[in-house]
Amino acid sequence: MRKTNLPRLVEAGLQWVWHCHHDILLEPLTEPLKNRIAYIKKSKPENELKLRLKLLKLVKGKLPKRFIEAGKACNETWKAYVEAWKAYEKMIVRSKEINALHQKECGCSWNGKTILENKPM
Ligand SMILES: [Zn+2]
Repeated sequence: MRKTNLPRLVEAGLQWVWHCHHDILLEPLTEPLKNRIAYIKKSKPENELKLRLKLLKLVKGKLPKRFIEAGKACNETWKAYVEAWKAYEKMIVRSKEINALHQKECGCSWNGKTILENKPM
């Protein structure tokens, strides 16, 4: 198994990584690096694992301030989005009007969380 560096904080409390995702060169982490590594091992195709884990690295050098500021803004926006989405999902699930409209228009096996765990229509 590949030995990982201890998480390394950079300015503004952000950790920056190379190749956290296959199509993004550089980005700040939105959660601990170990979570991303575990996710990759669990979810990505076997033939991609070696390269993904090899190239996923904490940035060692100092980044220009404008990148730190932009990353910070993205992380704050992302956190706000996640919170807003959770509230939206709760609102939908609890709404009698929405559930009644869904029942009338769709009639599927939606159980409040998924369409996949019940019998097909
Ligand atoms: Zn439905």
